[in-house]
Amino acid sequence: RLELRNLTRRFGGRNVVEDVTLSVAPGQVTCLLGPSGCGKSTTLRIVAGVDRQDSGVVLVDGVPVSDGRHHTPPEARGIGLMFQDFALFPHLSVADNIAFGLTGTKADKARRVAELLERVNLLTFGEKYPHELSGGEQQRVALARALAPRPRVMLMDEPFSGLDERLRDGIRDATLDLLKEAGTAVLLVTHEPDEAMRMADEIALMRAGRVVQQGAPYNIYNNPADLAAAAFFSDVN
Ligand code: ATP
Ligand code: MG
Repeated sequence: RLELRNLTRRFGGRNVVEDVTLSVAPGQVTCLLGPSGCGKSTTLRIVAGVDRQDSGVVLVDGVPVSDGRHHTPPEARGIGLMFQDFALFPHLSVADNIAFGLTGTKADKARRVAELLERVNLLTFGEKYPHELSGGEQQRVALARALAPRPRVMLMDEPFSGLDERLRDGIRDATLDLLKEAGTAVLLVTHEPDEAMRMADEIALMRAGRVVQQGAPYNIYNNPADLAAAAFFSDVN
């Protein structure tokens, strides 16, 4: 379980993230939804540990990983990342990319890599290099790499937006199936209401740094908190 408590981040005297509180249960997807510049990526960067809040706490499975005084380094948080620029290591094979963050014996790693290659339907791709793969294939490798260490929490910042529309739905659904099956708590950033309606168990609607409404997709869709929220959802089909 991922919990954010009263997170605030200031840049140049402005609260870019303001008093954000939310939690994501294991196997659930919460979408952070809101217009460009509302603070979604900043929130994710703080949770990931590549930026620091001015106040507030981040907890993973009840354990504070960042509380204003103590900051667990990103790689020790049990948090996986999938961002839009998911860059694979160009000089490493597909298998070595996936094995990169793994510990254990060589045989352990090889077993886990094979298992993941099968899950993302790239069983014969292990010895290839990133430049030999299509964008969608690279994305699936990035997914396998993110899943490999079995993170308790996965952060995704518009990870599907660069993809061909025909591929996108399939990759997106397969990704979330894998994460849910593994009991991972997923915090997914998007600025597209359609995507949030499709993917989310819960939506946290953000505006100007604040979460203005939080709940099940259809509750928010049917009972928007204010006119701006209603307008934001008006072109969902
Ligand atoms: P988008 O949908 O366009 O990705 P976002 O919701 O992810 O937007 P953020 O990247 O979190 O938005 O940025 C929120 C605000 O904080 C923006 O106004 C941005 O200019 C500002 N900001 C982000 N990082 C910094 C920084 N390092 N220094 C100063 N201002 C910043
Ligand atoms: Mg962003």
